[in-house]
Amino acid sequence: MRQPDLMERKTPEFDIVIAGGGMIGTSLALALAPLGMRIAVVEAVARRNALQPSFDDRSTALSRSTQRMFEAMGLWDDVRAASTPITHIHVSDKGRFGFSHIDAREQGVEALGYVVINRVLGEVLQSRLDELPAVQQFCPARIESVSLGPDQAMATMDAGGSEHEITGKLLVAADGAKSAVRDMMGISAQRRAYDQRAIVGNLLTEKPILNRAYERFTSQGPLAVLPIADERAGFVWTVSEKDANRVLGLNDSDFIAELQAEFGFRLGKFSRVGARAGYPLVLSKAVRLTATRSVLIGNAAHGLHPVSAQGFNLGMRDVAALCDCILDSRNATEPGGRLDPGASDVLRHYADWRRSDQKKLVYFTDSLVRLFGSQRAGIRTLRNIGMLGFDLIPGVRSVFAKHTMGLAGELPRLSRGVPIR
Ligand SMILES: Cc1cc2nc3c(=O)[nH]c(=O)nc-3n(C[C@H](O)[C@H](O)[C@H](O)COP(=O)(O)OP(=O)(O)OC[C@H]3O[C@@H](n4cnc5c(N)ncnc54)[C@H](O)[C@@H]3O)c2cc1C
Repeated sequence: MRQPDLMERKTPEFDIVIAGGGMIGTSLALALAPLGMRIAVVEAVARRNALQPSFDDRSTALSRSTQRMFEAMGLWDDVRAASTPITHIHVSDKGRFGFSHIDAREQGVEALGYVVINRVLGEVLQSRLDELPAVQQFCPARIESVSLGPDQAMATMDAGGSEHEITGKLLVAADGAKSAVRDMMGISAQRRAYDQRAIVGNLLTEKPILNRAYERFTSQGPLAVLPIADERAGFVWTVSEKDANRVLGLNDSDFIAELQAEFGFRLGKFSRVGARAGYPLVLSKAVRLTATRSVLIGNAAHGLHPVSAQGFNLGMRDVAALCDCILDSRNATEPGGRLDPGASDVLRHYADWRRSDQKKLVYFTDSLVRLFGSQRAGIRTLRNIGMLGFDLIPGVRSVFAKHTMGLAGELPRLSRGVPIR
């Protein structure tokens, strides 16, 4: 890892300081690297630490637009080798006969998405970051305070008990849904708890899961079962907050029995469940995306319910859009002029562009949770009509698939698979 010598209180000046080297912060540094700027990534939790909150044992479904981004960034072969393709998505509603499905062939693509374990994706991204001379990594180091001026953003970081100042033309907050850096930028976020916890783990299925992903809406919340490496299936089981501790405390066989009762026997009997972890689910949305010389991306800007596996993918579109805004500004800079990634027109362009995609995805995932979580008779009927319409009305599935693949709306270069340099 390129960890600079921290003898001095002041570090050298950077063009871009990224606060948070998780899934999104690391991806942004990799995406920006070809533009030849000096980039710093400040990450609070050491690599491979069991408490690393981003690169943990969850599995993430990568959308088509994220795939294209990794292709354009020259990372796809490595990410692809570490992930499992999804060729079918099966959507069902517990207690109802109806179900819907989306098929990759029908959509004219090789795969609807790919599933990768966060920790494994982390290894791929971080080892590539280590090869980049333009990127300096400060880890473990935590941003403690921020001061935003007209010409530069300055942050104070705590690296193992010693304080250091770090400055950049642009400060990017990529420090997750509870972003302290967002607060330091003076931006508040609206937060609403779903009173649900996602219980995450993996198990063996009697019938091979192959390349199918399942999304099942149950009375407590959605349950996703995804194909992962070694023929195991990953699950994200949403349970109500008041039941979560009980479910997490079940022994393996009782846990499997309850999960099986929710999912049914489409994949035969479940067995050999691994360790489980719980994630309280909260919807969060920053009221603004930018402040002077600073910007929010990823979960710091929007934290979604994992119902349709969109959070990371949406964050990757933030990454792609920010790269485009900076690149456009460079292309408009006079020859010999200095690129300023934190200039107000760059930030305005980014905020205008991202507002609509983020708003749509927040609304889309929140509506899914409400629609499929409700037990009211009228809503159940509407939902059944919705499920039917989903399969029968021409184009509806396609529109849904376009959203889940991240291909709706105006796409930045990287999301279209176009490399930037
Ligand atoms: C159960 C579950 C399943 C999910 N499944 C999917 C899926 O299938 N597909 C999908 O697209 N999305 C999924 N998501 C969402 C996805 O995990 C998040 O959107 C993604 O992790 C956001 O990444 P991030 O880098 O923005 O934030 P984080 O992952 O929260 O990373 C933030 C990083 O910032 C660091 N940090 C925090 N504070 C500081 C500080 N002051 N200074 C320096 N560093 C700091 C942290 O240590 C961390 O490494 C899922 C989420 C959950 C909870």
